[in-house]
Amino acid sequence: MSQSITIIGGGIIGVCCGLELQQRGFNVSIIDDKQDRQGCSTGNAGHFAIEQINPHASWSMLPRIPKMLLDPMGPLTIRWPYFPQLFPWLARFFWNARSASVERSREGLKALNQQALAAWEALLANIGAPEFLQAKGHLLTAESDKGVAALRQMQRQSERHDIRCQWLTKEAMLSMESLLSDTLKAGLWYQDTAFCIEPGELLLRLRHEFKQLGGRLERDRIYQVDPDPRGYRLQGEKSYVCQRLLIAAGAWSHQLTKNLGYSVPLETERGYHLMLPEHQHCLSRPVASYERSFIMTPMSSGLRLAGTVELAGLKAKPNYQRAHLLQNHAQAILQLPKEFVAQDAWMGCRPTLPDSLPVLDQSSKHQHLYFAFGHQHLGLTQGAISARLMTAMITGDHVSMDMSPYRIDRFH
Ligand SMILES: Cc1cc2nc3c(=O)[nH]c(=O)nc-3n(C[C@H](O)[C@H](O)[C@H](O)COP(=O)(O)OP(=O)(O)OC[C@H]3O[C@@H](n4cnc5c(N)ncnc54)[C@H](O)[C@@H]3O)c2cc1C
Repeated sequence: MSQSITIIGGGIIGVCCGLELQQRGFNVSIIDDKQDRQGCSTGNAGHFAIEQINPHASWSMLPRIPKMLLDPMGPLTIRWPYFPQLFPWLARFFWNARSASVERSREGLKALNQQALAAWEALLANIGAPEFLQAKGHLLTAESDKGVAALRQMQRQSERHDIRCQWLTKEAMLSMESLLSDTLKAGLWYQDTAFCIEPGELLLRLRHEFKQLGGRLERDRIYQVDPDPRGYRLQGEKSYVCQRLLIAAGAWSHQLTKNLGYSVPLETERGYHLMLPEHQHCLSRPVASYERSFIMTPMSSGLRLAGTVELAGLKAKPNYQRAHLLQNHAQAILQLPKEFVAQDAWMGCRPTLPDSLPVLDQSSKHQHLYFAFGHQHLGLTQGAISARLMTAMITGDHVSMDMSPYRIDRFH
């Protein structure tokens, strides 16, 4: 008889894990409370960002904090009423800015990113949908002397880590993407990155495949998980008993681990997007701005402008002004007509741990209990490789890399 497992969370991480486990003969059920197209895995920027190996905590951030607190419309903001709740996470975040910790996180991110695209290519080939991944690289642009210097430094760092990128003069950049503004000064072309033509469609396709292969997708919100003689008892609108459990509930995962003896410092970095539906063909690959900390990705439903970080917790209402600000940024670095349609302002909750690494682990306290969450800005990028590693862990196969950086108890 085949083995069974239940996954809480049907975002990109949960569904990739589900599909991979099905390949290994598991009967898989996924429980998710959201309607299709609502979550973080749908509204992201679609950038397979294998070049992003730096953790977010750094000492260079410290001097920017006062300005950050005063500018609610800056690329990084904290909502004051949430500050007391945020403080313990923030303290751990800055503790992780020590150089030893930064180095550890960088190695941990690099190890995942190095295998990320190959894992996606294999998964998409398996389901006959390679078109979701477009391997055209992306551009990172600068419009100030400070930005140009920062890009030079990033180029040196990328080369040190064997991440291919090419310096572009303004002219070279404009010949690749003719709608870029000539106020830009220079850019980097990361040749080996890729983008997704529509993350929401990708998630739907993966869920469809999952169901075709006999997977069950339950619409329910689980609010309590308890160990049970038969495995685990999950309480939502309905109650469920399962022998094996994988928690992959994105930014909500810590609410489910608590009762099982794991207190995890998971926060959410809320991000926004805005769509320009009439401009889907104005770029041939994603273009990011160093100074403005946002990215524009050409998708089948239009040009997606995405970015910004808002630390405000899981419950505060979205501030869609932050999404609409992205329009000003796009206008500054793209030659757009004065009047254009911008729509579908959206907000999603990135799940982030203080050291910027995800949790990919199995419990040492309870049998058959597994965790895959906390992928911060890189959940799309690392979806397929996380699924591959988790499946090896769950089936007891040899895991091809050192998993200690991703342990759930590393914060104790
Ligand atoms: C603006 C923005 C841009 C981004 N751009 C990129 C990018 O370009 N590249 C990249 O790699 N990453 C990007 N990301 C990050 C990426 O989207 C996330 O890391 C990823 O989607 C996280 O996936 P997940 O499956 O862990 O979480 P989610 O997508 O949040 O899925 C978790 C699911 O679990 C469900 N759930 C939670 N709690 C429960 C419960 N108790 N019971 C039942 N169900 C529950 C939730 O409803 C949700 O559907 C971006 C994020 C944002 C916000």
